Formats: sequence, C-alpha cells, structure tokens
Amino acid sequence: MIVRVATEIAADRLFDYAVPGALADRIRVGQRVRVPFGRRTVDAYVVETAEAPEAAAGRAPDAARQGELFLGPDGGVEAACGGLKPVLEIADDVPFLSPALLALARWMAEYYCAPFELTLRCTLPAAVRDSGMRAKEQLYVEPVSGAVPGLTPRQAELLDGLRRVGGGWLQALTREFACTPQTLKALAEKGGAVLAPRQVRRNPLANRKVLPTRPLPLAGEQADALAAIDALAAGEAPRPLLLFGVTGSGKTEVYLQAIAGLLARGRGAIVLVPEIALTPQTVQRFAARFGDRIAVLHSALSDGERFDEWHRIRTGEATVVVGPRSAVFAPVRDLGLIVVDEEHEPSYKQDEAPRYNARDVAVMRGHLEGCAVVLGTATPAMETWQNVRRGKYAVARLTQRVAGRPMPRVQVVDMRLETAAAGHVRIFSQALLEALRVRLERGEQSILFLNRRGYSNSLVCPSCGEAAACDACSVSFTYHQADTCLRCHICGAWKPVPSACPACGDPAFRYAGFGTQRVEQALHKCFPQARVLRMDADVTARKHSHDELLAKFKGGRADILIGTQMIAKGLDFPNVTLVGVLSADLSLHMPDFRAGERTYQLLAQVSGRAGRAELPGEVYVQTFSPEHPAVRAAAADEGFEPFAAQELREREEGPYPPFAHLVCLTFKGESEERVRFCAEACVADLRRLAPALAVSEACPAPLARAKGLFRYQVLLRAATTRAATRPLREALRQRPAPADVAVAVDVDALSIF
Ligand code: ADP
Ligand code: ZN
Repeated sequence: MIVRVATEIAADRLFDYAVPGALADRIRVGQRVRVPFGRRTVDAYVVETAEAPEAAAGRAPDAARQGELFLGPDGGVEAACGGLKPVLEIADDVPFLSPALLALARWMAEYYCAPFELTLRCTLPAAVRDSGMRAKEQLYVEPVSGAVPGLTPRQAELLDGLRRVGGGWLQALTREFACTPQTLKALAEKGGAVLAPRQVRRNPLANRKVLPTRPLPLAGEQADALAAIDALAAGEAPRPLLLFGVTGSGKTEVYLQAIAGLLARGRGAIVLVPEIALTPQTVQRFAARFGDRIAVLHSALSDGERFDEWHRIRTGEATVVVGPRSAVFAPVRDLGLIVVDEEHEPSYKQDEAPRYNARDVAVMRGHLEGCAVVLGTATPAMETWQNVRRGKYAVARLTQRVAGRPMPRVQVVDMRLETAAAGHVRIFSQALLEALRVRLERGEQSILFLNRRGYSNSLVCPSCGEAAACDACSVSFTYHQADTCLRCHICGAWKPVPSACPACGDPAFRYAGFGTQRVEQALHKCFPQARVLRMDADVTARKHSHDELLAKFKGGRADILIGTQMIAKGLDFPNVTLVGVLSADLSLHMPDFRAGERTYQLLAQVSGRAGRAELPGEVYVQTFSPEHPAVRAAAADEGFEPFAAQELREREEGPYPPFAHLVCLTFKGESEERVRFCAEACVADLRRLAPALAVSEACPAPLARAKGLFRYQVLLRAATTRAATRPLREALRQRPAPADVAVAVDVDALSIF
C-alpha cells in the first residue's frame, strides 16, 4: 500500500510513500504523518491511499518527481515503486482533514484555477501546519488524600489549603498561598501532592463574562424559517436556503435555535460572519447560548489560541464554530449546518490566490457533506437572488422587524438643491442638521456614515489643476489632518503636505471633497457640546480599539458616531434613532457594473442601524443623484424585489453575472511594455484556443498602477467558469508567465480594479 502526501516544506507538489505493514491498518486519508524527506524527517498530510503509485497518481509515474526523492547514495535513481521510502509514523490517529475537506480543496483548485497544493493549505491554518506548534502545558498540583507523614508544619498547612481548593495550576497556587514553586515541589516530593503537566487551553474568550441566554419565543415568520431549516437539515441532499430577512428581523435568533436543534442531535455547525462584523457583540450572542461548545476563529487570535481552537474543533470538543471566511474549512465533526450571515458581503471573497468566495465554498461544502446551508441577508447578492428565482435555492422570508418595530423612515435629500441654496457644497444638509439637533436635545444617539476616511480626498491646485498623487500608484493622495500628511490608501506611502503646488508653485493648494476627519471637525463647529466618536481604519489600526469604541458608544458615552463601512454592518445599538448617509454618490459612481447593487446594499444596511429597539428610527440619505434606482429602492419599503428585477434585466443584456461567469486576469510588472505584451499575448492565445469565449482587449486596469507595478487587465465572460478556465489553463501552460510579469486569476471576480 502506498500513500500520496502533501508536505509543508515542498508545498507545490505531492509525494508518494510506502506504508509499512505495521501501519497499514491505521492509516487514513487526512491524517498527519511523519515521513523522511531528503536527510530530514517532516510532517505530511495523507491526500490519497492506493495499492500502487500509478493508481494513486491517476497517471503514469512521473520520473522527475520520483527522481528527486529517490536518488540513491550513488546518485542513481532507484526503481520507482520498490524504492519508495516508508511512512515513519502516524502523528495522530484522528485525521486532520476529512475526505469532504479534501474533496473541497480539489473542487476549489479546479473551479478557481489554482494549484491544488494552495487550496489544500487553505483547509489547515498556518498555526496548525507549523510542526513546531504544540499544545501548551503547565504544571498542575493535586493534593493526595489520607495522612502524609513527615511534613513540616508549613507543608502540612499548604496541604490543608490545597485540599480545600482541590488543586490548581502551580503558578496560580504560588500566588494564592504566597509560596514559591519550590515549596510546592518539596511537598510533592514528600508525597503530599502530585505535580504533573496538564494541557491548558489558550482561550480567546477567557476574560469575557458571558451571561447565558435562553431561546426566545419565535415570531410566526421566524418559526416558519426555523421549521424550513430543520426540514432541510434532516434531509439527505438539502438545497441551500436563503434567509431573506429585513434588518432587525431576528435572523440571528433563528440561526441560534436551528443550531441548538442540531447540537441536541449530536451534530455541529459553522457560522460565517464578515470579519468586520465579528465584533464581541456577535461572538457574545453565540457564547451566551452555547458556552464552551463554541470555538472562535478570527484574525486577531494569537497562533496559540488558533491552534487550540482548531484542535478543539477537530477532536469534537467544540461543535459550533464562529468565524470569518476561512472558518468555512473548520474540521467540524458531523457537520449539520453552515450559516453564511450577510451572504452578500464582498469580504467573503479572498483577495489573494486562491481567490475563493467563502459563500460559494460553503454551498459546495454543504453539497459534499450533505448538510444544510443557510445564507442570511437583508440584501441578497444578485447571484443568490437569481438562484432563488431559478429554484436552485429555497427561500424563507422575515418581512417584519421583531416586536412589530417599524422600519426606519428613509428620506432622500437632494444635495443639488442644498448646494444651489448655499452657493457651495455643504457637508450637512439643513434637514440633517435639524435632525441631529433634535437627537442631541432628546439624548438619543446618531450615526453618520461616509465611505471615505481621512480629511479630504485630495489636494488640488486652484491655478493649474495639479492634484497631489502617489508616485507608485495611479491614485491621488488623501489629506490626513491629524498628522498633517498626505497618505496613499493603496500602498500606505505618505509625505508631508507641500507648502505650494509642486507643479506651478501656487501656495493656495486646496482640499477637495471631504473625509471622516473633516466631518468630525465640521460637527464640532455645529454642535460644540456633542460628544463625537470617529471610527475608521485610521482609528482602529490598534488591536481592540474597534471593540473599545463600540463599547463606548453602546454605553451611551457618546452622542454621535462617525464612520466608514466599518459601522454599516450587524451593529445593534438600541438608542440610535438617526442615521445620516453623508454621500450616497461615492459608491454609486464606481466604474463597476455592481455599483448600483453595492449602493443599494450599503444604504439598506446602514439604514438598518436605526430604530432597532423601542425608539423609531429615521434615515437621511444625501445625494446628488436622488433619482438613481438604487437610491430610490433603498428609500422605498418594498425596495429590494423591484430593484433586483430591473438590475437583473440589465445584467441579462450584458450578459453580466449572474447570467455569465466573469474571470478577471490581472498582469502586473515593473515594465509597462512587458506587462502589456504578456496581456496581449494571452488574449491572442485565448482567442485561438477558444473562439467562442468572450475575451476582452488587454487594457490598463482601472487602478493602472499600484505599489510601483503596472497593471493590465483581461476579462473573460462565459456561460460556465469551466468554459473560461479550461482554455485559460491551457494558455498559461503553453505560455507560462515570465519571471518579470505576474498573472493573477480571479474567477467570479467581485472587484475589477
Ligand atoms: P437581524 O440579525 O435580522 O438583524 P437580530 O437577530 O439581531 O436581527 O435581532 C434583532 C433584535 O431582536 C435582537 O436584539 C434580538 O435579541 C431580538 N429578537 C430576535 N428575535 C426575537 C424574538 N423572537 N422575540 C424577542 N426579541 C427577539
Ligand atoms: Zn501608493
């Protein structure tokens, strides 16, 4: 018997090993094993088992691949099969990877046009693959029972104390009994206690106080949704279900009760949330219901915490996983349900290879494991909505907010009229100012939303029109007032504000547009007494500052919260009765066919932050395009379905997703000429290999230069991804990218910058 394994140190290919008879009964696909590799011994993961190398490979033995491993002492290549080196040991009987996860990695490699080795690595966190990483152990002291002769009075006293507390960690006990570790060790040597290493859990929730909650009695629609999910989870090959519920309709309560039902039947669940929404608030709600059975996986964990959480999942100690997109690979045992909350969120897409969308991977994993998948949102992605219309996905609706609370009243403010009246562009309309004033008077809270951090978006010279731009990227600098510098939001480069225009010397270099910092300042002028908090990437760069700010706002220690999209999602502040969107135009005018969809989502989500408790909410949307369908839909009660119908009609004409699959190729390099050449050659190859495929011209990407590299783009459109990726793979095989030009393949691209 032989196995094909993936190793950590040569991650770009797989290797064959023989399985010694002694291990043959125990070896399983997905296990971690130790194998000889060159002169070393390394960790590896079993990807396949087979009787002979050919069978495992599914193709003839690859001489080069074998040769590298099996160079004998004299440099000669040993016979392919007989010379296989043996697996040395099985590191852990419980597999690290389930057959379903391996199949998922294979599907991802095929679908996203990425090397299998890369997709395989997605399924195991780096902290777990790191063979130096171990469970943390500390010395634990346990008192013995019965009489212990020969103790000093101090030792006898300690033993009494130990028996009273029933034992504990050595470190904690020295503090508790004000003694040295030596004293306790001496007691152990005399036979009064047992000192032994025990595994300690590095618990990311260790310092949280969580009060348990009980299931709430469900409203009618919630109960129907729960019944639909239960029915799916009990079925053999369930369809994914869209839980289409307005903001504040109690989707989370439905997830919680669906999961509780599964746990009672001994099964597990994964809940994916956008990283940005993975606040203590969200985690708290799950911890409050499921206690120690939950594991949390997110980017702020230490390696140790991540290692421990992952192993708790693998061994079945934790059965509910809450985390961002990478949690879709959590090795949950007997998975019964995957929830993808805010399924429309673009952050589910990984922006480096493999460029997978965790929502779609979740649907595939559900298919492979035969488990239920629930996609929850108030604003479905067009792809998801189309799947509902075609009957591929089931749907359950929550049309009402909990406890009959009304949806917030949305007012669109035409900024063209405001500008004409004031004679210049204003940050706050009269209507919004008045609404803010009323909130301050009543002691209620407001949220102001602007999708641009910094002070103003650019410096523009009034005489020559020169705008300060980054040297390495094709975008203008953003002015940051706090540290009076110019910052590039693409590469992070910064420089001090020039005292005059670098092009013509005019000292009247001016700020155009406005960002969150400028809003904060303007607000202080209008309402000097208001307590204002600002939340954007500049403020929250520090770990935990995000949580602290939210806690401060929730605790009522501020009146107004200004923020970027960071504050648009999932937050639940009962005292917020006003939401102001300062400019709906920023996302509306992106050069992207999804601009309308994104704007609608953003407006609906931001509005959803208002009036979530007893107090009714009000929303003001400031825009220069009040008649845009996305803006009008967000202001209407029954906004989504008519908007989606029109949006889908337009997409069908393109055709654009969801009526076609889009593959975006980005070529990057230091020489523009070389980048253009490679992009154009690829276009020619693709047109030759697949005449029916829609291949765009090679042209500079909307972000034409970033971090000093030129960027060219080629867009492929096809009825299925395979119709695009198959010829693409062939084209890239025939003409591999040269060393000085990198090619990024983005299947089902969400952003085409
Ligand atoms: P969504 O996720 O749809 O935005 P949430 O799940 O956050 O909505 O629910 C909004 C609020 O309503 C939460 O404070 C939640 O505790 C409460 N809630 C949810 N379901 C019920 C229910 N059946 N009865 C009473 N309160 C509920
Ligand atoms: Zn830059």
